[in-house]
Amino acid sequence: MKKKSIRGLSLKELQEFVESLGEKKYRATQLFSWMYAKGAQSFDEMTDISREFRDVLEHSARVDNLELVRKSVSSTDGTIKFLFRLIDDLMIESVLIPPEETAPGADRRLTLCLSTQVGCPLDCKFCATGTMGFLRNLTAGEIIDQVIQAQRHAERRITNLVYMGMGEPMLNYEEVMKSVDILSDDRSLNIGTKHITISTAGYADKIRQMADEDRKVKLALSLHSLDNEKRTQLMPITKKHSVSDLIESLEYYYRKTRRRPTFEYILFDGFNDTKEDIKKFVTLSKRIPCKVNIIPFHSIDFTGASGFAATLKPTPRDRMEQFAQALREANITVMVRSSAGEDIEAACGQLAVEEKKSKAKSKPAITETLT
Ligand code: SF4
Repeated sequence: MKKKSIRGLSLKELQEFVESLGEKKYRATQLFSWMYAKGAQSFDEMTDISREFRDVLEHSARVDNLELVRKSVSSTDGTIKFLFRLIDDLMIESVLIPPEETAPGADRRLTLCLSTQVGCPLDCKFCATGTMGFLRNLTAGEIIDQVIQAQRHAERRITNLVYMGMGEPMLNYEEVMKSVDILSDDRSLNIGTKHITISTAGYADKIRQMADEDRKVKLALSLHSLDNEKRTQLMPITKKHSVSDLIESLEYYYRKTRRRPTFEYILFDGFNDTKEDIKKFVTLSKRIPCKVNIIPFHSIDFTGASGFAATLKPTPRDRMEQFAQALREANITVMVRSSAGEDIEAACGQLAVEEKKSKAKSKPAITETLT
């Protein structure tokens, strides 16, 4: 009999499963709590479930766990980057990001950046993951298990999630939203939806869908340019959903939900950091109340970037601050992100890309690096 993989099942699906085994529904609540709230790695750990039923489960089901391949800890800011192996040997990354020490509530907050796909089909020119191409979508169970596994290495509770790692969440919408529903359930990890952010490279249809479904999570758009031509150069997805289409979808989203979207904006020297770019942002903020996260560019030279990608350089820190200040003067809420984990290959997808390159050699053992 083929064992059913149950990490990622909702409570209702677990109820149907235990009933199919001839058990009472309440068993599903026990399983749900053990798998998600307590992060059990095997049926053996589920000690308040009778030995007899655990034996039945052993024969009919399995709890798949991500395998930790590498854990890198930044000595500068405590960022931890995990490289996980999936059941089919593919690799994904997750990044645990502590808040800056001076940030309000810093001692109570811990953020995990999650992957939603192995690789990514969107080919954004500044992104290492994009160079891998697309391999497959993650299941809800694989998304959730990133939280469970990272929590085992965290000094305090993970309080915030950002779906901003490898992959485009909107291309895996059903599994992403299922993972949100399970992670935010108070019988599971109980991470409040207002502490969960879904980030998209720009699927206007899915932004409208989120509004129509009244999804309570926060929404971020990786914007990076308000100029359609420049954005197309940076992010080919713009050919499908133009800047104006995206802005219209966000306007719709804001009108329906009254939640302000966040714009993620990587500053590239001389490309999208000019006075004209600031002016466009200010005009946009009058249309849609928003927040802006300015992000430093992590070089992707290690991918052997060529053509347009090779011309991208980070805006120097002082000009990043000037750009942010100009937006603040127009009453826009702006955060300038630090270069979190720069010393541990923090570019999105860097570990997985390097791992893929060396894959032909041999399976690496778990390594822990402190840089
Ligand atoms: S930035 Fe995001 S959407 Fe773009 S290629 Fe990278 S992982 Fe995909």
